[in-house]
Amino acid sequence: MDDIRYDSLFIGGDWVRPSSDARITAVSASTEEPIGSVPEAQEADVDAAVAAARRAFDDPAGWAHWSPADRASALDRLADVLERRAEDVATRVSAQNGMPVAVARQLEGSFPVVLLRYYAGLTRESASEETRPGLFGGDTLVRREPIGVVGAIVPWNFPQTLAAFKYAPALAAGCTLVIKPSPETVLDSYLLAEAVAEAGIPAGVVNIVPAGRDVGAYLVAHPDVDKISFTGSTAAGRSIGEVCGRLLRPVTLELGGKSAAIVLDDANLDLKSVAEKLFTATLLNNGQTCFLGTRVLAPRARYREIVDLFTDFAGALTVGDALDESTQIGPMATAAQRDRVERYIAKGKGDGARVTIGGGRPAGLDRGWFVEPTIFADVDNNHTIAQEEIFGPVLSVIPYTDDDEAVRIANDSDYGLGGTVWTSDPDRGLALAKRVQTGTIGVNTYLPEPTAPFGGVKASGIGRELGPEALVNYQQLKSVYLG
Ligand code: NAD
Repeated sequence: MDDIRYDSLFIGGDWVRPSSDARITAVSASTEEPIGSVPEAQEADVDAAVAAARRAFDDPAGWAHWSPADRASALDRLADVLERRAEDVATRVSAQNGMPVAVARQLEGSFPVVLLRYYAGLTRESASEETRPGLFGGDTLVRREPIGVVGAIVPWNFPQTLAAFKYAPALAAGCTLVIKPSPETVLDSYLLAEAVAEAGIPAGVVNIVPAGRDVGAYLVAHPDVDKISFTGSTAAGRSIGEVCGRLLRPVTLELGGKSAAIVLDDANLDLKSVAEKLFTATLLNNGQTCFLGTRVLAPRARYREIVDLFTDFAGALTVGDALDESTQIGPMATAAQRDRVERYIAKGKGDGARVTIGGGRPAGLDRGWFVEPTIFADVDNNHTIAQEEIFGPVLSVIPYTDDDEAVRIANDSDYGLGGTVWTSDPDRGLALAKRVQTGTIGVNTYLPEPTAPFGGVKASGIGRELGPEALVNYQQLKSVYLG
C-alpha cells in the first residue's frame, strides 16, 4: 500500500492546520512497515473541534433544527458516498489492524452504509413529538430533542463500523459530533471525513480528531460536550464512567466481553455446514472482536468429540497477510496486542490447560504480528484464560455436566456481552438463551443486527447501540404542559 499522508485535521467542515507538528504513524499489522501518517490532534485541536460542533449544534437554523426528512436525505447521501468508497475503507482498515480484507469488506465497508440508511429510514418514520392527553386536564407535548454535542471515542478493532454505531443514530437525532479514532487506525478516518465533506453534511456537524488516550480523556471531560459514547476496554470504560458520573454527563459504554458458546448435547456441528457461522461467533477478526464466544462450553458426554472438532476447525483456517483474499486469520493489530495474547497462552499452559492446536507463531510468517489459532482443552472456568478477555484467536473448551451447569458457567463471568447456543432444537436453544446473563445472544448463529439493540450487562457496559433504542442515547425528553 502506498504511503498515505495527511497534513490537516477535519474540523468545522474544513481541512485545518493542526496545532502542533506531532504525528501518528500508521503501521501495517501484516508487514510491520509504516504505511502512512496523519497529524496527532492535541487538546487545542479538541477545543477547536468541540467549538465547531457546539456552533453547528447551537445554530438556530442548523442541523438540530433541520426537518427529519432533510436530515435523512443527508444521511442517505453520506451512505452513497461511503458505499462508493467501501473498497478503500476495507483496504485501509485491513492494512492497519490486520482484519482479513474479506471480513473488512463485509463489515467495515458495508455496515456503516447499512446503518446510515436504516437510521435515515427511522428518522423519516418516527415522530419527534407527540401530544398526550393528561389526567389532570390539559394535554402534554412530549418532545424528543437532540442531546447536543457528542464525544464519540472508538477502538481500533472495527474502527469504521463502531464509529457508525455512534454517528448514524447521533446524526439522525440531530446531534453534532467530535469523533476520536484510535491511534492504531487513523488512515480510514480520513475517508470518513472526505465522505462527510462530499455528502454536504453541514460544517461542524462531524469533526474528527485522531489521538491517543490522554486527548480522549480531555474530550470526555470537555465542558462543552453534552454526551459521551465510548467503545473500548472495560478499564478505560470504568475511568470514563467515573468522569461522566462526576460531571453528570450521559454516557454509553460498550466494553469488553468473555462470552460463552454453549454447545448442547444435541448439537449437530457438521463443519461443512456450520464452519462459517461458528467462525463469526468465535474467531471473527482474528479473535479481536468484543462479542466472541471464546469460552466453548461442551457437554462431558461429547467433550472429546467437540475438542477434536474445534481443533480441526482452527487447524483448517488460513493464516496470512490481511490483504490476501484467502486469509481467514490475519495478524494481531499491534506488537503489544500479540505480546498480550502470548502472555495469556503461556498463562493457560502454566495453569494446566492443554493446547490441542496452535499456541505459537505460525511458521513462514516472519513479519507481522501473527499468532496461530489456538485451542485449549481441559480448561476450568476459574482459569485466567477463561475469565479475562484475551482478544486473540484463542478458544477455551470447558466441560459441563447438564444444561443447568452450562448456564451457571456461562454466567460465572464478570462480562455479559455476546454468546451463542448450538443445538438441533431451536426451542430448547431459545429457552437456554433466555437464562444467560448477557446483552445479546444467538441460537445457532451470531451477528449484531442493525435493527436490534446491541450492548452488554455487568462489566461489558452500560446502554445499548443499534435499533431504534440507540436513538434514545442521543435524545433528551422534554414535556411541555399545555394550558
Ligand atoms: P481501549 O480502551 O484501549 O481504547 C479504546 C479507545 O479509547 C481508543 O480510541 C483510546 O485512545 C481511547 N481511550 C483509552 N483510554 C481512554 C480514556 N481514559 N479516556 C478517553 N479515551 C480513552 O480499547 P482498545 O484496545 O482500542 O479496544 C479493544 C477493547 O474494546 C476490547 O476490550 C474490546 O472488547 C472492546 N470493544 C468493545 C465493543 C463493544 O461493542 N462492547 C466493541 C469493540 C471492542
